[in-house]
Amino acid sequence: MITFDHVSKTFGLETHALSNITVAIPDGQFVFLIGSSGAGKSTFLRMILREVVPTEGTVTVDEWNTSTLPQSQIHLLRRHVGMVFQDFKLLADHTAYENIALGLEILGKTKEEIEKGVTDVLELVGLSHKRDSFPQQLSSGELQRVSIARAIVGGPKILLADEPTGNLDPDTSWDIIQILDEINKLGTTVIIATHNASFVNDMKKRTIVLKHGVIISDEEKGKYHQEKKEEREEKEKSKHHKHHEEKEKKHEHD
Ligand code: ADP
Repeated sequence: MITFDHVSKTFGLETHALSNITVAIPDGQFVFLIGSSGAGKSTFLRMILREVVPTEGTVTVDEWNTSTLPQSQIHLLRRHVGMVFQDFKLLADHTAYENIALGLEILGKTKEEIEKGVTDVLELVGLSHKRDSFPQQLSSGELQRVSIARAIVGGPKILLADEPTGNLDPDTSWDIIQILDEINKLGTTVIIATHNASFVNDMKKRTIVLKHGVIISDEEKGKYHQEKKEEREEKEKSKHHKHHEEKEKKHEHD
């Protein structure tokens, strides 16, 4: 369970990246975190990794309160949470296999454990045939698959993805979302931050919308109300229209 309890984050004196956020994300949930650039999505995710600590309030990730977590235990939290980025962050001089294996080497796994772990996640992301390819030999979609495999190989309970489809075309984006859904179905909590809401309505997952650091909606089986914006514009238009009509009527009467 991840909980944000009245969490605010201020950078400097003026930038309120998050303001009074209270939200709970139970184990195994799949969540879209939506909002335009600067809304606070990355800050939200980075708080779960304890890369950012709240100015006010408390963030708890399972048994860890990130504000009181001793420096010496941060690595335990980070093992628990995998992260996927828009720009993949793979090592250019390592093959797909080697990039993924790194995480397990750090954990001190044996060669056999690493072989099995990496083979399993490569299969899960559909990339077994590219295990010996270097990043420059892979397409953007394949690079994102490798980076997802690297994020989950250590078996994290939580997977965060910050704009994972930001560099991908719509079809490839959809494939990546399907893989993240697959990983969620295997039991991992998945939180995807994105400003691209085109696939959100089709997924019917919990959708939290951030605007200027504030949660403006939080819906189970969420929809991103892009249509709301259109409706709003439509309403504005008709209000404007009505106003004009009334003005004209008034004119006629005068
Ligand atoms: P998003 O991921 O939705 O684009 P961010 O969480 O990156 O939003 O940023 C929210 C706000 O906080 C922005 O105004 C951004 O400039 C500011 N911000 C984020 N990180 C820092 C930082 N380390 N120092 C100063 N300002 C920051």
